[in-house]
Amino acid sequence: MLIIKVGGGEGIYYETVCSDLARLYHQGRSCLLVHGGSHETNILSEKLGHPPRFVTTVSGYESRYTDRKTIEIFEMAYCGKINKMIVEILQSHDVPAIGLSGLDGRLLLATRKPTLTIVENGKKKVLRDDYTGKIESVNTDLIHLLDQAGYVVTVCPPAISREHQAVNVDGDRAAARIAEAVKADDLVILSNVPGLLEKIDDPTTLIKDITLTNIDQYFEYAKGRMKRKLLAAKEALLGGVTRVTLGDARIDSPITHALSGNGTVITRRDDSSRD
Ligand code: ADP
Repeated sequence: MLIIKVGGGEGIYYETVCSDLARLYHQGRSCLLVHGGSHETNILSEKLGHPPRFVTTVSGYESRYTDRKTIEIFEMAYCGKINKMIVEILQSHDVPAIGLSGLDGRLLLATRKPTLTIVENGKKKVLRDDYTGKIESVNTDLIHLLDQAGYVVTVCPPAISREHQAVNVDGDRAAARIAEAVKADDLVILSNVPGLLEKIDDPTTLIKDITLTNIDQYFEYAKGRMKRKLLAAKEALLGGVTRVTLGDARIDSPITHALSGNGTVITRRDDSSRD
């Protein structure tokens, strides 16, 4: 199974991603799509008078502060608007897409972090009303059931906690966990950049090849949420996925391009095939 993650940042056109996925699907490839919705969530949060707040965790990762009201807005954007829009586009390409959040059928089970320790103005601060978590397991029975029946599962956060609460989980890491759980060979992570860049404003500085053995040295280039993409790639490879490609979502046939070796290709071994 091929796992594709498409970001929710500015400049992403779902039409090209969906038409490419449709082509692969009609060629007989089994695909699962994970998507984000961060940009849309920010817009909706402003409109609803609950502006987004981003915090930096002690381990240096940027995270959306997700109180209960934010979870509701998050669901409106991710599960309501973006998920249904993607399903609609896929259906227009004769793909029998089915949209599910991590809550549906307990697709993504997560542990909610009881507290979130952040760094603000150089000082540590503990947040207790934050609903974010880490995925513990994936309901692969449900994925296989739908996949074998020919559906294309289209997944978005949130996940569900053991206490039955919706929790915000990172989309890239969710895609990595799904890829690992279904034993996917390929994970393609598409966003609004050509891949991991040495200099963020210069697309000619694309880092083309990384392996699991040297991935840690590339974290210094990744800022903001790109850091999570590298982390997701590392987790997926450690979990048995053969190849992770960070590719550009803004071009025609973005999935096919990424699968042909365009973008940042991250493999488990130095001698991995790039076919
Ligand atoms: P998503 O597509 O999942 O919503 P983002 O758009 O937040 O995720 O992640 C991609 C962003 O990461 C880019 O828009 C870019 O601004 C940022 N970024 C930070 N460091 C780098 C880097 N070294 N190379 C490329 N992009 C980077």
